[in-house]
Amino acid sequence: MMIESFLLESSATEIIVLGWLFFGGIYLSFAAVNRLLTRVIFPATGYGHVLDPRPLAPGQLKREWLFSATTILLYGLGMLAPWGMLQLGWAHLAQEPSTARIILESLVLFIWNEAHFYANHRLLHTKWLMRFHLPHHRSVITTPWSTYSLHPVEALMLGNVLLLPMALHDFSATALLSVPIFSLIVNNIGHSNYNFLPWADKDRWWLNSSRRHHLHHACYHGNYGFMFPFMDRIFGTVLPADAADGRFAEWQRKNS
Ligand SMILES: [Zn+2]
Ligand SMILES: [Zn+2]
Repeated sequence: MMIESFLLESSATEIIVLGWLFFGGIYLSFAAVNRLLTRVIFPATGYGHVLDPRPLAPGQLKREWLFSATTILLYGLGMLAPWGMLQLGWAHLAQEPSTARIILESLVLFIWNEAHFYANHRLLHTKWLMRFHLPHHRSVITTPWSTYSLHPVEALMLGNVLLLPMALHDFSATALLSVPIFSLIVNNIGHSNYNFLPWADKDRWWLNSSRRHHLHHACYHGNYGFMFPFMDRIFGTVLPADAADGRFAEWQRKNS
């Protein structure tokens, strides 16, 4: 298969540079599209609205860019892990997979990604690991640049999501690639501080991850899930939709 032979024949340096271009490229593109939609096109057409009206903290964007650049450097280097597994024969890619197989594998990986994120996120909220998660939570008002604004330990915890599935099953390269791409789109939406579905009053839709994750940043506890709300429902950690209203009212009272 083309991708497998390409990966097997590439050197470690080529894989790292490719990783930097891949993660840097999709991060910048998705953030740019997000900003264009939520700060130019949607406001001009009157669709949706900003969720948290409070201003960004001083120096927030600079800090987010620095942490994001570190995460991209780390994720590029991290490409050595799946590449090394393929080189050593610890993992293999599916040969000429059918479309049905790719779709099924992608669905399994999305559900695994959700459970993996939830478990690691809960761990990051324990008193032992909290210090590695606080840099991300310094962005109380989120921006697309908050997405990769992670302490390196948190980036490593979240970034290893594909290694266990790869060791257990020969996934198709397309299904494996769909995880970082789709994850980043959802993560970007989650940090957009914009209500994409103003007509939906319940936080059930996956596009409502922007409302759910905005509440996580505003309140710190609750709504630990990523793309879907099912893990928070199972473990009883759902935040009510009006959880941050008191904070906004307080801010409005002080600033009016
Ligand atoms: Zn958190
Ligand atoms: Zn976040």
